[in-house]
This record gives sequence, structure tokens and C-alpha cells, in this order.
Amino acid sequence: MKVTDHIAAAKGETLFSFEIVPPTKGTSIQELYDNIDPLMEFKPPFIDVTTSREEYIYVNKGNGLLEKKLTRMRPGTLGICASIKHKYNVDTVPHVLCGGFTKEETEYLLVDCHYLGIDNVMALRGDAMKDEQSFIPKEGGNHYAADLVSQIHQLNQGNYLHGLKDIEHKSDFCIGVAGYPEKHLESPSLTSDLKRLKEKVDAGADYVVTQMFFDNSKFFEFVAKAREIGINVPIIPGIKPIAVQRHLQILPQIFRIDLPEDLINAVEKCKTPADIRQVGVEWAIQQSLELKAAGVPFLHYYSMGKSENIRQIASKVF
Ligand code: FAD
Repeated sequence: MKVTDHIAAAKGETLFSFEIVPPTKGTSIQELYDNIDPLMEFKPPFIDVTTSREEYIYVNKGNGLLEKKLTRMRPGTLGICASIKHKYNVDTVPHVLCGGFTKEETEYLLVDCHYLGIDNVMALRGDAMKDEQSFIPKEGGNHYAADLVSQIHQLNQGNYLHGLKDIEHKSDFCIGVAGYPEKHLESPSLTSDLKRLKEKVDAGADYVVTQMFFDNSKFFEFVAKAREIGINVPIIPGIKPIAVQRHLQILPQIFRIDLPEDLINAVEKCKTPADIRQVGVEWAIQQSLELKAAGVPFLHYYSMGKSENIRQIASKVF
């Protein structure tokens, strides 16, 4: 079922959803299941599964020499989507990236999604690789998420690359895209970034999921500005609880987001890692309750593969 249909069926009730990250190469999928199991009592209508960019690693060739290799450290997005869908009877949303894929490869991936009965995809550009100054698309690939949305939209019309048309069993993907309440890190301004978001919606995106934020007023302002410029699709807030001291440095550094002073002070007063996790949980509960009261369609949690703090939050919110 489409995310937008879940929203319509909920008739204004706020629903629970979350995002998981595939295990690192070779790690058992059982750990992932063990983290999903406790969250199923909150009845998520869908679970997102991220896709990792390829990255360069150095492999020992055995003779003391190192070889530079392009690899994907967390493969298996689509397989995990299929297995979770089957195991838990829940919709899954694979993240589909521009980066590292030609349009042909994207089309094959989407055909696989269609055959697996996946109704939703999250269309993203992906970040630049670690050794790139800025994002470089693969030759023959999509550059911006809006281009990828167009490709998926075209496929939904039955228009395959190279002119195959009017295939009898067309896909009908519901398309999610990313939004940034504190603007995307490369964007010159929030206004400019919102125009880019509008381009994604005009290209066929059906809903938006936001980057994490810790100050709800940023989300409310973002939604108001989006509505002003005619972005009328559902906007789902993304919530991440602070879990370790290091988050105070790395989250602003990686995502260029601000952390509220009260949250920073509360974390800095903590004496143990457990205290920090508790502060993160409490903060996320307060955020969630306020967003729920404001009538957001979903509260979407970034679990990073660990569920205990998300379970604690959800048990107080849902
Ligand atoms: P875009 O919408 O293409 O925007 C990228 C930048 O380009 C923005 O600054 C935008 O303002 C600008 N821009 C857009 N169009 C144009 C144009 N025509 N001309 C000039 N500038 C333009 N990353 C992963 O690798 N895997 C994941 O699974 C993943 N999941 C995510 C889920 C969510 C909910 C979010 C919020 C992010 C996720 N990301 C993921 C991170 C995402 O890939 C990065 O934030 C990436 O840098 C931008 O992706 P985008 O889809 O927002 O790009």
C-alpha cells in the first residue's frame, strides 16, 4: 500500500514509522530482526531501508601491497525490503539513489521493486563520495533527486528507457523525497532549497520526509514556507534521539543542523552514557508529542539499526 494511502486511511491520526540501515557486509540479518521485533507493537505501516553510497577502501593484496577498490559497505537494501515485507507483512520503502547508478541500472532496480510488490520508493541524490569535492553522478546517471523522480514518474506512465512503451503491468510507485528544515548543506539558502523541493514535487514526488531536527519550530516554519510556495504533499518529520556525547559534535558537522542550547546543556550535565541516552529519549518524546498534537501524518524515527531508545519513545507517544 502507498504511504499516501496509509495517511488517507489514518484519517488524521499520527502513525509510527522508522528507518533501518542494512548490516555491514557479512553481518547477520538476525540482529536487524532483533531490533525490528520490539518496534512492531507500534504497528508501523512502513519501514524505510537506506541505501549506502559506494566508497573506496584499501584491500591487502596479500603481498603487502594495498589495492584501492570501489565497494558498497552496506549492500542488500532490496533483499532486506523483500524479507521484512514477507516476515512482518508490512510495507517497505527502499531508498533509491542517483549516485553510483546509471539510469538503466535504476530502471532494473525499479523493475525488481515492482515485481517484489514494493509500492513506495524514496528518491534521493546521495552524498558526494568521501574523496569527491562535490557530488558527481555516474556517467549516464541522474544528477539531482528531481531527475530521479522524473524517471520514476515516467516509468509509472509505462515509459521505459529506449522507447519501450505501454507495458501492460505498469508500476505505480508512490515517491518520497527528502526535505531539509534547516536547508541542505550545499544550498545557498532555505528559500532556494525549498524551490528545489518544489521541483521534486512538480516532477512527481508524493510526500516528503525531513532530515532530523531538534527544534520543532524549525519544522513548523519549514512546513509553513513549503505550503506558501505551493508544496501541498504530506510532510513527515524525521526524528533522531541523541544517543551519545559525540552526537553534539558530529550531527551539526555532518548535517549542518543546530542543536538547542537546552539540549546541549542537558547532555553536558550527564555523568554516564545511560544518562545521555535518557536525555535523548526524553527530548525526542517531547518533540514527538508536540508534533503529534500539531497533526503530523507520521512520526518517522531514524533508528540506525538500534531500537531500544525508539521503543522507549514510541511507548510514551503511541
Ligand atoms: P537533491 O534534492 O538533489 O538536492 C541536493 C542539493 O542540490 C541541494 O542543495 C539542492 O538545493 C540542490 N539542487 C537541487 N536541484 C538543483 C539544480 N537543478 N541545480 C542546482 N542545485 C540543485 N543518503 C544516502 O546515501 N542513502 C540514503 O538512504 C539516504 N536516505 C536519506 C533519507 C532522508 C529522509 C534524508 C533527509 C536524507 C537521506 N540521505 C541518504 C542523504 C541524502 O542523500 C543527502 O542529503 C544528499 O546530499 C542530498 O540528497 P537529496 O535527495 O536531498 O538531493
